[in-house]
Amino acid sequence: MSTSLLVVATLLGAAIFPGILAVFGQNRGTETNDLALVGGTIYVSPAEEPIRDGALLIQGGKIAAVGPRSMVQIPQNVPVLDCAGLTITAGFWNSHVHFTERKWANAAGIPASELSRQLQDMLTRFGFTSVFDRSSIWNNTRTLRDRINAGEVSGPRIRSTGEGLVPKGALPPEIVVNMMGWMNVPVPEITDAAQAAAVSKKLLDAGVDGIKLFRSSPRSTPLPDSVLQAAVNESHRMGKPVFLHPDSGEDILAAVRSGVDVIAHTTPNAGLWDETILSAMKEKGVALIPTLTIWKYYARHDRISAQEKVTSNEIAQMKAWLATGGTVLFGNDLGAVDYDPTEEYTLMAEAGMSFRQILASLTTSPAQRFGESKRLGRVAPGLLADLVVLKGDPSNNIRALTSVKYTLREGKIIYHE
Ligand SMILES: [Zn+2]
Repeated sequence: MSTSLLVVATLLGAAIFPGILAVFGQNRGTETNDLALVGGTIYVSPAEEPIRDGALLIQGGKIAAVGPRSMVQIPQNVPVLDCAGLTITAGFWNSHVHFTERKWANAAGIPASELSRQLQDMLTRFGFTSVFDRSSIWNNTRTLRDRINAGEVSGPRIRSTGEGLVPKGALPPEIVVNMMGWMNVPVPEITDAAQAAAVSKKLLDAGVDGIKLFRSSPRSTPLPDSVLQAAVNESHRMGKPVFLHPDSGEDILAAVRSGVDVIAHTTPNAGLWDETILSAMKEKGVALIPTLTIWKYYARHDRISAQEKVTSNEIAQMKAWLATGGTVLFGNDLGAVDYDPTEEYTLMAEAGMSFRQILASLTTSPAQRFGESKRLGRVAPGLLADLVVLKGDPSNNIRALTSVKYTLREGKIIYHE
């Protein structure tokens, strides 16, 4: 135990809980998930001024109190985590990930410790406590989620669309899928509205949290609006969101016309977005997931001038979308790109997003969009204690968003440096 921790605990008059080390041990915290985070700067939400030298009390996995250190009573026997010099925010959401790499295959058979390590490697070490997965094998992803939720495996909250719907013939050849390191997902190929409705209903009945649509591909004719609408209707009937992977402005317009809720990418390879596209998106209140890194990554073998064009186009699309005041959800296509999200943050900043706007895309915006704002997305009494503790201050340097010291889910430390 560090001297400063002892000092803090003594100052607060809190008995040093004999099991403070158990916070980092196998049972990760007390049975009731009680813990106090003391010292440091707390960003309670992107819209409010941070609390300097704050304290945060977690009881029963929920935030019981938060405020300046002098105002928060820490009961005896609650273990104290010294957060002096650190920054605390709500847990991050990553709204675009894929549990499709081969490492997740047969999720029922992977030892718990290995699964926890894989989830740490991809997600929890970067502060992601909630993720929205897409286009994976639903039965497999559900197994992964069940094992996490049962407490057997350490990991984030998982939402998933399960298998995405694609136009006939859209799938890349097996050799490409293998080279990408992905499982062969039995993706439903759609030809008409009745089939789109039936496949969506089957997925929703099986418990998915939303529907993922592809409209076009280089190998197939685009799906007509009626087909997209049939899938949207099924999903909305169940109160679930619909995501669309666009490759062009035409795809975005079709998505918006059909009632899609979230546009899952920018489209820098198809030129800039004109006023028609931007106003249609804004009018329907869709949310945009930028995924700026992946387009740079896909262009990495091209000439430098072509790479620069991709980056300048996606930045221009983001700037134009931000100028409309539209909603942005953080998502960096994890599973298809390198796990470290630092470049995604720096590109978002380059597009003009402030730290607070990026924090909103990681916390309040997804919580609101996915109907979780009463439980998640802010640091406030009564909400679940999903938290990230950072070593730096991202309001000074956006790269500090990846300098994660602790990640907590419902008051349990699921990652520590
Ligand atoms: Zn993706």
